[in-house]
Amino acid sequence: MTFSSLMDALLGFLFPDRCVGCRRSGALFCPTCRAALRPYPLDDPPPGLDAMLVPWLYEGALRQAIHRMKYRSQRRMAAPLGDLLAAQLRHHPQPADAIIPVPLHTTRLAERGFNQSTELAARIARATGIPLVSGLERCRDTGHQAQLGRRERQQNIAAAFVWTVYAPPPARVLLVDDVLTTGATLVACADALRAVGTQEVRAVALARSLAPAQKMIQ
Ligand SMILES: [Zn+2]
Repeated sequence: MTFSSLMDALLGFLFPDRCVGCRRSGALFCPTCRAALRPYPLDDPPPGLDAMLVPWLYEGALRQAIHRMKYRSQRRMAAPLGDLLAAQLRHHPQPADAIIPVPLHTTRLAERGFNQSTELAARIARATGIPLVSGLERCRDTGHQAQLGRRERQQNIAAAFVWTVYAPPPARVLLVDDVLTTGATLVACADALRAVGTQEVRAVALARSLAPAQKMIQ
């Protein structure tokens, strides 16, 4: 047993994991709360993506789990969240030669210490056997997009990504993101990959907020 795994075991004993949804001890995100996640209504992929899998609504325990991972730097939360996505991919396989996470700009990466999408993508790669490939970079800091409208987001994000290695990118890519809003980020990533040779781009993300029009009919 290494020192760090010993420390993990000790910390786990002193501070047992509590579920982000129901606070019961034993797991970071318990099976009961995972089973209670509400599906996101089926939707066509945005133009530029061959397929898109977004299983759940961005709400409740899942929203809290994603917040903990992103804004409270709880990196370990990526394990149950990545496994949730991997399980979805077993039911809805997406053909791909490589898994590529949506990159963070280096400034944001330095702030957070890790890219949450890379953490999710690594779990999915492990479960599916599809290799995780790096090379896509975010060359422009697009700032915080949460306050921007659909059109502003699209303008802000277009041309923010670039393929940075000499070898061509994989022919069929599965992009991984955590939360989807308009899909403009995924489309911008797909555009950057297609510009240098990728043929098919599919995407998977954990959750999506309902658009205002969909909220009204719920
Ligand atoms: Zn729970």
